[in-house]
Order: sequence, then structure tokens, then C-alpha cells
Amino acid sequence: MTRLRDRLAALVRADDGPLTRELLREPGRFGLGQLPVRTAPDSVTTLVCGFCSTGCGLSAHLRDGEASNLSPDASHPVNHGMACPKGWEALSALAAPGRATTPMVRNASGALLPSDWPNALEIFTRRFGEIIEDHGGDACAFLGTGQIPTEELVYLGALARFGMGFAHGDGNTRQCMATAATAYKQSFGFDAPPFTYRDFEESDVIVLVGSNLCIAHPILWEHICRNTREPKIVVVDPRRTETAMAATHHYPIEPKSDLYFFYAVANVLIREGWIDRAFIDAHTEGFDEFAAAIAGFTPAAVTDDVGVDIAAIEELAALIHAGQRVSFWWTMGVNQSHQAVRVAQALIDLALLTGQIGRPGTGANSITGQCNAMGSRLFSNTSSLFCGRSFASETDRREVAEILGIPLSRVTDRDGLAYDQIIEGIHAGRIRGLWVVATNGAHSWIHQSGFIAALEKLEFLVVQDLYPTTETARHADLFLPAAGWGEKDGTFINSERRIGLIKKVRRAPGQALADFQIFRLIAEAWGCGPMFAGWKQPEDVFDTMRALSRGRTCDLAGIDGYAMLDAVGGIQWPLPEGVRLEDHHRRLFGDGHFMRTNGRALFVADRPVPVPEPCDDTYPLILLTGRGSSSQWHTQTRTGKSKVLQKLHRSEAYVEISALDADASGVRDEQWVVVRSRRGAIRLRALIRPTVRAGQLFVPMHYPEVNQLTHPSFDPHSRQPSYKHCAVRIERDG
Ligand code: SF4
Repeated sequence: MTRLRDRLAALVRADDGPLTRELLREPGRFGLGQLPVRTAPDSVTTLVCGFCSTGCGLSAHLRDGEASNLSPDASHPVNHGMACPKGWEALSALAAPGRATTPMVRNASGALLPSDWPNALEIFTRRFGEIIEDHGGDACAFLGTGQIPTEELVYLGALARFGMGFAHGDGNTRQCMATAATAYKQSFGFDAPPFTYRDFEESDVIVLVGSNLCIAHPILWEHICRNTREPKIVVVDPRRTETAMAATHHYPIEPKSDLYFFYAVANVLIREGWIDRAFIDAHTEGFDEFAAAIAGFTPAAVTDDVGVDIAAIEELAALIHAGQRVSFWWTMGVNQSHQAVRVAQALIDLALLTGQIGRPGTGANSITGQCNAMGSRLFSNTSSLFCGRSFASETDRREVAEILGIPLSRVTDRDGLAYDQIIEGIHAGRIRGLWVVATNGAHSWIHQSGFIAALEKLEFLVVQDLYPTTETARHADLFLPAAGWGEKDGTFINSERRIGLIKKVRRAPGQALADFQIFRLIAEAWGCGPMFAGWKQPEDVFDTMRALSRGRTCDLAGIDGYAMLDAVGGIQWPLPEGVRLEDHHRRLFGDGHFMRTNGRALFVADRPVPVPEPCDDTYPLILLTGRGSSSQWHTQTRTGKSKVLQKLHRSEAYVEISALDADASGVRDEQWVVVRSRRGAIRLRALIRPTVRAGQLFVPMHYPEVNQLTHPSFDPHSRQPSYKHCAVRIERDG
């Protein structure tokens, strides 16, 4: 039998595909990107921002066909002419020095040297082919991202799992929204964030949990500022964040005591009869079991655990009761916890208890992190088969096979491993090849040294990104140069389920290609190109997305193409075929019908469990991490390239400490200190601030050092890392 590696090598050598032929003939033309800039040479075109999930509309001002500047789109339904600093500066990252302009290959001496696409494709197919031939598809995995367009996520998920036979694939959405997705699926029957941003403007009581909206999602804070109902703004957060300072009520609960706190609030609501019995009876399941499960969580019973007094808990319950329109919003302070799914569901439970869902200004609403985390949740083909289907269901697999026009046998019936399990599999020697697309786990993954040690154990690591200098790319055996946001076409789906368009308004440098085109080349080189022959441009995949979603909760079938999205500034799902788009701000569950088989939402409660790494005499302080600035994005891969954004935040990593702990440690403001955990020690500037309470430290997530400290623990249901709690100590440096 011909060995797979020989067959793959022959395929590349044979140059029998039109795409490969064209590439070999004219690599320079591919270097400028295959798709032409489609807008008039000197004009303005609009596209969605490529950083956070808010999904602001930006206007790209074109000169000679390329964007020379950006401004917020005044007509866009999301941002009404506003943008945060990242949006204004989004072009800077594209023009920054250090972009990859050719594929790069690591040589025998360990240097990553420029190469070309034919060589890169030969190495890619040969090395992964060898691993699969010798160890099977179980030995290969990919890690994707919520930062690339949905069409590219579809292609990557289908190519790797159906075309190439990789058993495992996940993405950085695991770090961001896995908890919300799991909570919604269990409670509602589908991963369906119910809200529209209008709900910020229409609430009487806005409860923000683990969300520093003012700096993490500043345009959403602007929506609150537009609220004319004089809302109560409640912040539940251990830190006195910028948002807590602007709120009407702040409950600084102990880190990770959320379950005790919200169960006690529910306990008061039930005790006082402040529940919507008609809604509960008509639209939910499991209320009696829930009430029994939380009966012991009285305010008096939990006050020591939560660190706020009985009156505070009763006050919040009374605020919720008094509100006609109450909305509950959460983000990473909830999602990145050791019991994250249950905390998210405690908020869902509060909305169900009080009937605060499906009406203007209400809802149990998760705010997303990355620009396309929602696209990744529905279309990456990783944690679920396309559009929330199940890999285990033959009916679901058959549907997907028919829509994609591929044999049923190519659609795997196995769930792949989650991100942390992939890393564990590499350590155990079971996973030998990894393909990383547009994510930087060597900075962002929890317990950094463990992640880097895993990369070093791999037989073959491919990194596909804009810069060969990311912390992850530095370990690559093969680097593939990718075009970034603004250099390619596609769609993103924002927090409120709005699908928006991104466009190519710049040419990628050198031989860098849109990820979409890289996937096409790899499919052809691997020999599975015919499976995806219909996907020549991103909009072809968008047509497939419409078909995959037809009749499902996330139905896009009524969006007849990119032109329709462009005309109206994005469209929220669902929009079934034949339904007229009459309202640009739609919420779910107005009819009280949920997606579980009985149509009812489920109450869920669980027993709180202790934090995985409690403080002790050696490590007496709790380390909190989070977003530190509106001007930086995650690992600074792009925002770190902007001189303007650099001026808007501290270049040196810093730690916020309370005056009490600073006194106890002999630390002065602006002094260098060392923060140490069981996994590492990092040097930082100490800032004595009232934002953290005694016993707690805060370090922003944007600095690469921080994950040297974090503790690798995960929510058992969502497998999302718990970044927000580990035990540390602080020492003066020198
Ligand atoms: Fe809007 Fe987020 Fe982009 Fe800022 S980063 S402009 S808030 S989408």
C-alpha cells in the first residue's frame, strides 16, 4: 500500500490543482492577496471592528483603493458613531514592522528562516501525514480562534476534522465563552444569548457581574449612559473597578463566593414571595428542586463566605423585586471560574425566578469577549458539530454531510478533546502534531510554563499568524504568514447575535495570505480539495452557513448574502428564510418558549465547592487578573504595535495592591516588587490603589508575565480556565 506521506508528497509535486499551479507560477501575485479590493479607489466603506465582541461599525477611508484611515460609523446600530481607542487604531497593526511576508521553516540549527509556499505546503502535508500514518488522527490537533471570520472557522473545522482526519480541535473561545455556551445549552437547550444592546437602554435595574464594562466594553457602557429610566446600576465584583465607581450599588463579594451570594439572593426572593409564579409554572422546569437546593443558603448562613452583610444581600433582592425591567449581565469574572457554569446559571435562575426575560430591558445576558467568539461557538466544528449539532447523533451527522456534499463516513462521530485536554495529551505523548491558527497560547493560556513545555514536546508545531514573533510562533517548526482583519472578507457575530461584515481594505504584505486561502491551499495539497471545491470565496462558505443553520435556533437562511448585511449594518440571528427584517434590535424568548425538548427553561443549582488553591501562610494573597485598559487587547499581538495605544497604558507590568497589604509588606507606591506563586515569580511595579481590598492583588492580563503565576484549574462542565483566583505572595524587589 502506498504510504500516505508518499501520496501527499506526490500530490504536491504533481502540481495537479489549479490553485497550486497558479501559486507556483505567480507567487508574488498571491502575496498581494488573491481577492481584489472591491471598493472604489477613493471612497468610504464600512466594516465591523476586529477586536472585541461589541461589534462596532467602522468607516474605512480609502485612498487609491486602500484604507488610509478609520473613523466610527455614525449610522451603525451598535456604536452610533463612537469607538474605543482600539477601533480608531485598528489599521496600525497591519502597517507595523515585523509582519511575516513569507512562510518560515525552522532549520537544523533551530533558526526560523524564510521559505516559500510550495515548500511550506510540502512540509505541512508530509509532517502531519507522517504523524497520522504512524499514530492516527488522535495524534493531531488544531487550536483556532474567535478572531478570524466565521467563514474561515467553518473551513478550518471542516478541513481539519473531515478532510484531514484530525481527531481534536478547539480554540481560544474556550478561554472566553465556553462557560456561557455550556450554561445556556443546559438551561435553555441552545447556546442562545437572548438580548439586544437596547436592553441596556431599557432596564430599570442593571446587574453587572464580574464585568468592568467601562473599560472592557466601553461602547456598551455608552448604551447604559443612553438609558433615560435612571436605572439602578449594580456591580458585583471583588474589585472597586471603574464600573463599580460609576455604579449606584457595589457589592464587593469575596473572590469566587458568587454561588453563595446569588443563591442567598434567590433565597430571599423566594422567602419574600418576590417571584413570578405564573412565569415559572408556564415556562420553566425544576423550580421545586431548585428551591430545595438553595433553602440552606440564607443570608445569615452565607455572610461569612461572601464577605458582605445580610443587609446587602437583602438590599439586592429588594432592588430586583422593585425593578419592572431587570437585566443580569456577566462576563469573564464569571466565565473564568472553577464553578463558572453554575454561577452563570445562578444568574439565569434569578431571571427565570422573577420572569425577567424575553421583555425589553431584561434577560440573563452574557457579554462576549472576542469579536467572533459567537461565530466560533456556532461554526468552528469543535466543541459541537456545526450549529450546535451533536457529533454523536447520526441524524445530525447525516444532515451536515448532505449540506457539505461529503460522504457521511468523513463526518466524525467523536467529540474532540478540549483545549486543556489537548495540552495534557501533548504532555502525555498522545498528541504529537499541533496547528495553531491566530491565537497566542504561550502568552494567554493558564499556567504558562506548562503550556510552553507542551509546545516543546511536540514533534511538529505549525503556527499561522500575522507576526512570527508572538510568544507561540517563536516555538513553531513551520510558520504560515496570514493576512489580518482589514486584509480579507468575511463575517463576525457579536455579543447580541449580530452578524456583521468585514472587508478587505488593505493588501496583506509579501506572500501573506488570508487564512481562507491558506486553508484552500492546504486542502489541495493534502488531497481533499475536491471535498471543498465549492468554497472559492468566503461568500460561498456563507451560503453553506445559511444551509447549516436553516431551521435551527441560529437560523441565518433569511440573509441572502453579504450585500444584505452591508446594507443594514449587520443582522441578528435568527432570520429564517421568508421572514422580513422589520426590527434591527431583537431579543429572544418573547414567547416564553425555550429550546429544550419540552420548551421549558431549566433551573440548575449545585453545591459550592472550595477554590482549587486556597491561600495559606506561605501564599496569603489572592491574585485577580482581568482587562486593565481599553487601549490594549488580550496578548497585545496587534495593539502592542500601535504607538498611540502604547501611550495610553503602562508599558511596564504592574500590580495593584491595597494600602493595608502594602504597609504589611513594606511596599511603597511605584516600587518594583516580586509576586510569587507556586508556579513562578514575576517582577512588577506596585501601585497602591483603593481598587483592591486587603488580601487581594490585581494584575492586568495583557502582560505576558501574568500567566506564569496562574493556577491550572478548570470548570468541570465548560473546561474554561479559572484565571481569576490563585494564591500568591508579594515581596519587595531587592
Ligand atoms: Fe468597538 Fe470593541 Fe472595536 Fe472598541 S474594540 S471599537 S469597543 S468593537
